[in-house]
Amino acid sequence: MAINVRAKYLNKTEEMSFIDRLYLPAIVKGMFITMKHFLFTKAYTVEYPEERKPIAPRFRGRHVMKRDEMGRERCTACYCCQYSCPAECINIEAAEVTGDIRNNHPEDKYARVFEIELLRCIFCGFCQEACPKAAIYLEEFYELADYDDRSKYLLTKKEMMETEGKPVKYRV
Ligand code: SF4
Ligand code: SF4
Repeated sequence: MAINVRAKYLNKTEEMSFIDRLYLPAIVKGMFITMKHFLFTKAYTVEYPEERKPIAPRFRGRHVMKRDEMGRERCTACYCCQYSCPAECINIEAAEVTGDIRNNHPEDKYARVFEIELLRCIFCGFCQEACPKAAIYLEEFYELADYDDRSKYLLTKKEMMETEGKPVKYRV
Protein backbone atom coordinates (compact mmCIF):
# COMPACT_ATOMS: atom_id res chain seq x y z
CA MET A 1 0.00 0.00 0.00
CA ALA A 2 2.79 2.40 0.94
CA ILE A 3 4.54 1.69 -2.35
CA ASN A 4 1.37 2.55 -4.30
CA VAL A 5 0.99 5.89 -2.53
CA ARG A 6 4.60 6.72 -3.29
CA ALA A 7 4.18 5.76 -6.92
CA LYS A 8 1.12 7.97 -7.20
CA TYR A 9 3.01 10.89 -5.69
CA LEU A 10 5.95 10.38 -8.04
CA ASN A 11 3.64 10.22 -11.04
CA LYS A 12 2.01 13.49 -10.04
CA THR A 13 5.44 15.15 -9.67
CA GLU A 14 6.40 14.06 -13.14
CA GLU A 15 3.24 15.65 -14.50
CA MET A 16 3.90 19.12 -13.01
CA SER A 17 3.21 21.98 -15.36
CA PHE A 18 5.65 24.77 -16.15
CA ILE A 19 3.90 27.14 -13.66
CA ASP A 20 4.02 24.48 -10.98
CA ARG A 21 7.72 24.01 -11.53
CA LEU A 22 8.30 27.72 -10.92
CA TYR A 23 6.84 27.14 -7.41
CA LEU A 24 5.31 30.64 -7.48
CA PRO A 25 1.74 29.52 -6.65
CA ALA A 26 3.08 27.49 -3.70
CA ILE A 27 5.19 30.43 -2.47
CA VAL A 28 2.28 32.87 -2.76
CA LYS A 29 -0.01 30.45 -0.99
CA GLY A 30 2.54 29.92 1.78
CA MET A 31 3.08 33.67 2.23
CA PHE A 32 -0.67 34.24 2.34
CA ILE A 33 -1.01 31.72 5.18
CA THR A 34 1.98 33.26 7.00
CA MET A 35 0.60 36.81 6.71
CA LYS A 36 -2.85 35.66 7.75
CA HIS A 37 -1.44 34.27 11.02
CA PHE A 38 0.93 37.22 11.46
CA LEU A 39 -1.82 39.83 11.14
CA PHE A 40 -4.93 38.17 12.52
CA THR A 41 -3.95 35.38 14.89
CA LYS A 42 -3.58 36.17 18.59
CA ALA A 43 0.02 35.78 19.77
CA TYR A 44 0.64 32.95 22.23
CA THR A 45 3.98 34.28 23.41
CA VAL A 46 4.57 37.10 25.89
CA GLU A 47 7.48 39.53 26.23
CA TYR A 48 8.75 38.05 29.49
CA PRO A 49 9.77 39.48 31.96
CA GLU A 50 8.03 42.76 31.05
CA GLU A 51 4.83 40.84 30.38
CA ARG A 52 3.60 37.93 32.48
CA LYS A 53 0.81 35.47 32.04
CA PRO A 54 -1.76 35.23 34.84
CA ILE A 55 -0.99 32.47 37.31
CA ALA A 56 -3.54 29.76 38.00
CA PRO A 57 -5.11 29.97 41.47
CA ARG A 58 -3.88 26.46 42.28
CA PHE A 59 -0.29 27.17 41.23
CA ARG A 60 2.30 26.01 43.77
CA GLY A 61 5.29 28.33 43.88
CA ARG A 62 7.62 29.17 46.70
CA HIS A 63 6.52 28.88 50.32
CA VAL A 64 5.14 31.69 52.44
CA MET A 65 4.54 31.49 56.19
CA LYS A 66 1.43 33.26 57.39
CA ARG A 67 0.50 35.46 60.32
CA ASP A 68 -2.91 35.54 61.98
CA GLU A 69 -5.24 38.53 62.18
CA MET A 70 -3.33 39.79 65.25
CA GLY A 71 -0.02 39.67 63.42
CA ARG A 72 1.25 36.59 65.31
CA GLU A 73 3.09 33.75 63.60
CA ARG A 74 0.59 31.00 62.85
CA CYS A 75 3.18 28.22 62.98
CA THR A 76 3.31 26.42 66.34
CA ALA A 77 6.10 23.99 65.45
CA CYS A 78 3.84 20.93 65.45
CA TYR A 79 6.04 19.15 62.85
CA CYS A 80 3.06 17.94 60.75
CA CYS A 81 4.54 19.48 57.61
CA GLN A 82 7.94 17.95 58.27
CA TYR A 83 6.47 14.47 58.74
CA SER A 84 4.33 14.76 55.61
CA CYS A 85 7.11 16.03 53.34
CA PRO A 86 8.06 13.26 50.88
CA ALA A 87 11.34 14.97 49.99
CA GLU A 88 12.37 15.36 53.64
CA CYS A 89 13.47 18.90 52.96
CA ILE A 90 11.88 20.69 55.94
CA ASN A 91 13.95 21.31 59.04
CA ILE A 92 12.22 22.60 62.18
CA GLU A 93 13.58 23.34 65.62
CA ALA A 94 10.92 24.06 68.20
CA ALA A 95 11.41 26.32 71.22
CA GLU A 96 9.37 27.53 74.15
CA VAL A 97 7.65 30.87 73.92
CA THR A 98 8.99 33.06 76.67
CA GLY A 99 7.71 36.36 77.99
CA ASP A 100 9.34 38.83 75.66
CA ILE A 101 8.08 37.13 72.47
CA ARG A 102 4.67 36.01 73.76
CA ASN A 103 2.84 38.67 71.78
CA ASN A 104 4.20 37.20 68.56
CA HIS A 105 2.95 33.62 69.11
CA PRO A 106 -0.48 32.19 69.88
CA GLU A 107 0.72 29.09 71.81
CA ASP A 108 3.54 28.00 74.11
CA LYS A 109 5.75 26.61 71.36
CA TYR A 110 7.10 28.16 68.20
CA ALA A 111 9.51 27.34 65.39
CA ARG A 112 12.84 28.85 66.38
CA VAL A 113 14.25 27.44 63.15
CA PHE A 114 12.16 26.68 60.11
CA GLU A 115 14.06 25.93 56.89
CA ILE A 116 13.20 24.41 53.55
CA GLU A 117 15.83 23.05 51.17
CA LEU A 118 14.37 24.32 47.93
CA LEU A 119 16.66 22.24 45.75
CA ARG A 120 15.10 19.09 47.21
CA CYS A 121 11.53 20.37 47.37
CA ILE A 122 9.24 18.96 44.69
CA PHE A 123 6.52 21.59 45.26
CA CYS A 124 3.93 18.91 45.96
CA GLY A 125 2.03 21.07 48.46
CA PHE A 126 1.78 18.31 51.09
CA CYS A 127 3.16 20.65 53.76
CA GLN A 128 0.39 23.13 53.01
CA GLU A 129 -2.24 20.37 53.15
CA ALA A 130 -0.90 18.93 56.39
CA CYS A 131 -0.65 22.17 58.35
CA PRO A 132 -3.41 22.36 60.99
CA LYS A 133 -2.74 26.06 61.59
CA ALA A 134 -2.94 27.33 58.00
CA ALA A 135 0.58 28.57 58.54
CA ILE A 136 2.34 27.62 55.31
CA TYR A 137 1.28 28.09 51.72
CA LEU A 138 2.86 27.63 48.34
CA GLU A 139 2.08 30.87 46.58
CA GLU A 140 2.68 32.41 43.17
CA PHE A 141 6.41 33.17 43.27
CA TYR A 142 8.18 31.00 40.68
CA GLU A 143 11.32 32.86 39.56
CA LEU A 144 13.79 30.63 41.36
CA ALA A 145 16.56 30.24 38.78
CA ASP A 146 19.93 31.69 39.71
CA TYR A 147 23.56 31.46 38.66
CA ASP A 148 24.93 31.94 42.15
CA ASP A 149 25.80 29.49 44.88
CA ARG A 150 23.43 26.79 46.08
CA SER A 151 23.22 28.18 49.62
CA LYS A 152 20.64 30.67 48.37
CA TYR A 153 18.23 27.81 48.06
CA LEU A 154 18.05 27.16 51.77
CA LEU A 155 14.87 29.06 52.48
CA THR A 156 14.80 30.43 56.01
CA LYS A 157 11.87 31.34 58.21
CA LYS A 158 12.77 35.01 57.99
CA GLU A 159 12.56 34.89 54.20
CA MET A 160 9.28 33.02 54.21
CA MET A 161 7.48 34.89 56.97
CA GLU A 162 4.74 37.22 55.87
CA THR A 163 5.50 40.82 56.74
CA GLU A 164 2.62 42.46 58.54
CA GLY A 165 0.62 44.50 56.08
CA LYS A 166 3.31 44.28 53.43
CA PRO A 167 4.05 41.88 50.58
CA VAL A 168 6.56 39.14 51.30
CA LYS A 169 10.11 39.97 50.23
CA TYR A 170 12.08 37.29 48.39
CA ARG A 171 15.84 37.04 48.26
CA VAL A 172 16.54 34.78 45.25
S1 SF4 B 1 6.06 21.28 48.81
FE1 SF4 B 1 6.24 19.06 49.19
S2 SF4 B 1 8.42 18.64 48.95
FE2 SF4 B 1 8.23 20.86 49.19
S3 SF4 B 1 8.49 21.26 51.37
FE3 SF4 B 1 6.29 21.02 51.02
S4 SF4 B 1 5.88 18.84 51.40
FE4 SF4 B 1 8.09 19.05 51.13
S1 SF4 C 1 3.98 25.12 59.31
FE1 SF4 C 1 2.07 24.21 60.10
S2 SF4 C 1 2.44 21.99 60.01
FE2 SF4 C 1 4.45 22.98 59.85
S3 SF4 C 1 5.22 23.04 61.94
FE3 SF4 C 1 4.19 25.00 61.55
S4 SF4 C 1 2.08 24.69 62.29
FE4 SF4 C 1 2.98 22.65 62.08
